[in-house]
Amino acid sequence: MSDQLGAAQHTLPFVPDDTAAEEAPEGDWVADIAVDAPGKDVYSYRVPPELMQSLAVGDGVEVPYGGRRVRGFVWRRHAQPPSGVRLRAIAVHRQEIHLPPHLLAVVGWAAGYYRCHLGSFLAAAVPAPVREGVRLRPTRMVAPHAESGATLTKRQRQVLELLPEQPIEWAAALRLACCSSSVLERLAAVGAVHVEEHRTIDEHHLISKEESFALSDEQQVAVDAVAASLSQHNVFLLYGVTGSGKTLVYLDLAQRVISQGQQVLVLLPEISLTPQLAARFRRRFARVAVWHSGFSAGERAEQWQRVASGAVDLVIGTRSALFAPLPDIGLIVVDEEHDPSYKQDSEPRYQGRDLAVVYARQLGIPIILGTATPSLESYHNAIHGRYTPLTLKQRPGGGALPTPLLVDMAQECRAQGRKAVVSQALIDHLRLSCERGEQGIVLLNRRGWAPIVECLACGHVVMCPHCDIGLTYHKGSDQLRCHYCGYETAYPDACPACHEPALSSKGLGTEQLEHLLKQAVPGMRTLRVDADTVGRKHAHARMLSRFAQGEADCLVGTQMVAKGLDFPKVTTVGVIQADRGLSIPDFRAAERTFQLVAQVAGRAGRGSHPGTVVVQAFDTEAPALRCALSLAVKRFYTAELQQRAEHSYPPHAGMLRFLWSGPSLRRVQNHAETVAGAITPLLNDCRLLGPTPSGITMIKDQQRWHALVKGPSRRAIQRLMDRIAAANIALDCSGVRCAVDVDPITIC
Ligand SMILES: [Zn+2]
Ligand SMILES: [Zn+2]
Repeated sequence: MSDQLGAAQHTLPFVPDDTAAEEAPEGDWVADIAVDAPGKDVYSYRVPPELMQSLAVGDGVEVPYGGRRVRGFVWRRHAQPPSGVRLRAIAVHRQEIHLPPHLLAVVGWAAGYYRCHLGSFLAAAVPAPVREGVRLRPTRMVAPHAESGATLTKRQRQVLELLPEQPIEWAAALRLACCSSSVLERLAAVGAVHVEEHRTIDEHHLISKEESFALSDEQQVAVDAVAASLSQHNVFLLYGVTGSGKTLVYLDLAQRVISQGQQVLVLLPEISLTPQLAARFRRRFARVAVWHSGFSAGERAEQWQRVASGAVDLVIGTRSALFAPLPDIGLIVVDEEHDPSYKQDSEPRYQGRDLAVVYARQLGIPIILGTATPSLESYHNAIHGRYTPLTLKQRPGGGALPTPLLVDMAQECRAQGRKAVVSQALIDHLRLSCERGEQGIVLLNRRGWAPIVECLACGHVVMCPHCDIGLTYHKGSDQLRCHYCGYETAYPDACPACHEPALSSKGLGTEQLEHLLKQAVPGMRTLRVDADTVGRKHAHARMLSRFAQGEADCLVGTQMVAKGLDFPKVTTVGVIQADRGLSIPDFRAAERTFQLVAQVAGRAGRGSHPGTVVVQAFDTEAPALRCALSLAVKRFYTAELQQRAEHSYPPHAGMLRFLWSGPSLRRVQNHAETVAGAITPLLNDCRLLGPTPSGITMIKDQQRWHALVKGPSRRAIQRLMDRIAAANIALDCSGVRCAVDVDPITIC
């Protein structure tokens, strides 16, 4: 790690030089190569005469490295070899791979800012099949055949309904319809879908006549504001209440950018939202690529090259879509910008939304951050004039905002005379919705049957043997499961500590909640959406579409049910244990709770029916809940910013987290303390908190210690990291890994 940091500092600032190839004078030429191997960020190599003309910045190469050959990318070319050093020559020029210079620039910036090895960041940004040069095979395109007249099974009809009208890639169709290849093969055999091996349809724009694209006055104002500054950098914070039609604004602007011959990048927080939104973009534009991690190697390589060749006008996907090699981006959209899943919490650690803003600045183009509940950072930037706020206050469909109802569960428990879980108010509203043929959504941010299994005789809580976390009881499979490492075990007959047969489960998860709701409202058809039901089958999109089609009366689930989906028939929304998140020791707890409750509340009454939101809590005075329900956005943000300022938390400060982990607790602790000691004299205007055992002291048999650094600004944090790098402090050592997390999201 120390070596990495030293190198990162050495190569800053990252300015890829794409003019070098043209100006090549005679003589010995040097190329700095970002190698896909540990060590320094870049190494210098000699350019052999036969490559003098053809080798460009961004090209893939193979170079000798130690006793082997490794792959890498040309980072820059220059005339001056390091004095007195004899360079080895580039071995292979992989002409089939080329990264656009602007993509190199943003990855370079990210590697520097997030203190990640440049080669590792490039390896993460460029899919492995592309780096490895997987051989391409023709892509099959599939589209429904309108007048086939074939007799179909129910399942086949379901699949057919999920397919868009114009051809899409085979693999994309499988994901969209959540079906296996054999289902599509059969549909093709009976003539219900049309399959072709090439993409002629992709070559021209298809604009559907069916959907109305008329903008409301508010939407028009937002579109005009962005349209007036296309081709110059500006960050727009599009604050629109749920149901206010942000997507229509994106679509209109995308249309303008695409008609200028440029491309559009649309980022979403969750893969499950992609099919819904992608379908809306596909109805308007023909050349849309959905950027997924679920592609096969061949598909990934093919898609990468198709995007790089300019054959795609719009890329839509989760945070890694930021690295799609679009040749000439004219607009970036980050939808649901407040969502924590834009942060990648494994290496390379980066904040996708923040990086998108940097990218737009480098490209000199506008970027839109869309949300109904802005992140505190973006809100802060907007009120200080760094971002341009745009507001959508109305729901164009005429949907009324829901009526809020805050239920005091302490009182409810007294009234119901037992440990109440679902309030009478929520039961009544769900029953009413159900009777009227409407729908409900109930959120509880905890899966399984019960989160705690404890012994009534001795108080022992059954823990995961590999993590410092209690096991969750899953009744469906009758197992105890660890949500951190996946460990599973049968429900024990007796307490592992005192051997009494006195184990009992405690607390509430979505599995049990679904059961209780069914009991409370007989006849109500429920559908549960959480990590257990969605699982590995990518069934999320299919379940939501079944709910949209009215196959269930009530959707029960974790925060998966709270995100940007549009169900016009939903008139009751319930939030169980809404204040539970507030007890998490994290300075963002109030912001998260506010966002989650406001988001899920916005799911009610999106059609013509007014809705009710029932929020259950013990702490009914909590400002995060009260403000979320009354949509007092400004009041909440003003108070929260004040709090953050008082305690020096972002956005009023810069933050950094070191997380040390390893199998030996003694080693981890010793090393954390050694590093902290070495850093302390370098702190200047920054403050070091810790090191201490991390909130969860062990995950997957790795002991965890951490330390937080707070500084007056992000810049101060960067300067500290430069000093640490210059001092050559080894952040990790044998047996102890150190993760450096700049602008951390999780701090426990
Ligand atoms: Zn016991
Ligand atoms: Zn575990």
